[in-house]
Amino acid sequence: MHFFSTRDRSRIVTSSEAIAQGLSDEGGLFVPERFPQVDVKNICGMDYPVMAAVILKEYLTDYSEDFLADATAQTYGAAFGGKAGYLAPVSEGVSALELWHGPTCAFKDYALQLMPKLLVEAKKNLGRTEKTLILVATSGDTGKAALDGYHDVPGIEIAVFYPTGGTSEIQRLQMATQEGANVAVFAVRGNFDDAQTGVKRVFGDKNIAAQLAQRNIRLSSANSINWGRLVPQIVYYFAAYAQLLKAGKIVFGDKVDFCVPTGNFGDILAGYYAKQMGLPVGRLVCASNENNVLTDFLTTGTYTAKRAFYKTTSPSMDILVSSNLERLLFHVTGSDTEVAALMKSLNETGSYTVRPETLAVIQESFGCGWSSEEQVAGEIRARYEQDGYLCDTHTAVAFHVAEQQKREGVPMVVLSTASPFKFPRSVLEALGHTAPENDFAAMQELETITGHTAPAGLAALRQKKERFDAVIDPMQIAEVALGYQA
Ligand SMILES: *Cc1c(COP(=O)(O)O)cnc(C)c1O
Repeated sequence: MHFFSTRDRSRIVTSSEAIAQGLSDEGGLFVPERFPQVDVKNICGMDYPVMAAVILKEYLTDYSEDFLADATAQTYGAAFGGKAGYLAPVSEGVSALELWHGPTCAFKDYALQLMPKLLVEAKKNLGRTEKTLILVATSGDTGKAALDGYHDVPGIEIAVFYPTGGTSEIQRLQMATQEGANVAVFAVRGNFDDAQTGVKRVFGDKNIAAQLAQRNIRLSSANSINWGRLVPQIVYYFAAYAQLLKAGKIVFGDKVDFCVPTGNFGDILAGYYAKQMGLPVGRLVCASNENNVLTDFLTTGTYTAKRAFYKTTSPSMDILVSSNLERLLFHVTGSDTEVAALMKSLNETGSYTVRPETLAVIQESFGCGWSSEEQVAGEIRARYEQDGYLCDTHTAVAFHVAEQQKREGVPMVVLSTASPFKFPRSVLEALGHTAPENDFAAMQELETITGHTAPAGLAALRQKKERFDAVIDPMQIAEVALGYQA
């Protein structure tokens, strides 16, 4: 299997190269040359780690099968508390795919606990001995998940950039207390897009790359623009389907709809890959918060990043430029020149419009909707009071949209992307309580009220020492990168 750039088909790489490099040199994203077809029925009988190895090997063809079997067994066992890909029943026809049983309590652990192993092996496959410097822009969850995955991995340095005040206090502490000799964390003045644009500028700067190359350092990305981030996420769509089969809620071949709380369009795009590989996926419903740029795009065909930016209670979805949409545009149009032109327009004018035929094809697979802040709070309360199900703010965005888009007779799986204890103040307030200022006090009160126990990793943050307090401007991200020595 080879990969090529969404903006230039002639740039062809292996899976190891795609993972080591992250982004194609001219700014495009790597996509697989075709969609491998798999024996879905057989895969549905497998345990999660085996399922993951079998799906990954279709794409990562220059990795050995033994390596993939070991890596997935190490990643998706104890670290996920035996709950990798766990599907919780919520109400008639609706279930929640709980993706937050990993070490940092957000779905990003699925990719970022595995990625370091994939990267180290990619370097080995390619015979590379340089130091890898990973730069991560994060709206909260990616940063911690990447730090946890990459800390103290030999040959790797990681620097994380998050928007000041753009994360919950728990998310901030998760990053600021990160241990490890090879990690660094910076607050960036501005919002997530400012941080992401700053990081992208460094990746696109040939001068910086050349200076670092002289010191035998190479830049790489852990953001979901990296193929290694996307591919592990395909697996849990299969796992959800397998559990519905086992529970007797569907028979093989029945279609299942998925509703996904969306920011950078990575998680939902993984569902599109699962569908293209043969999984009977019905509709993929894209759920947005008040930053509803994707709802507008999927409805009208015009993507406009030039709009008001809202800070919401679902900060990991406070995004105006959904990078992974570029991959979908490539798969639907099949044209690198067309995608390059759309992305040029986005860069220069802040918007683009796809052809009506393109929109029509996208709409065959994707539904959409968005939730206001009031609706998110109402949804948390409704799910708790009516179904006894406690969810976080991001998941609530999706529950609200799922209700509007639920089709008679078609099971709906809502992707639950974070533990409610990661956003304890918002969840408490939604349940009708006055939240204490302090996140830990709120966490405790949420435990008392609901009888649920906060994940140990979150509760333990209280005792940990803060290591990082630097605040920088987006332009200074380049200086940070250039500060690294071999
Ligand atoms: C990152 C994140 C999302 C959005 O996922 P994308 O792949 O960026 O669309 C949703 N919910 C939570 C909790 C997240 O951390």
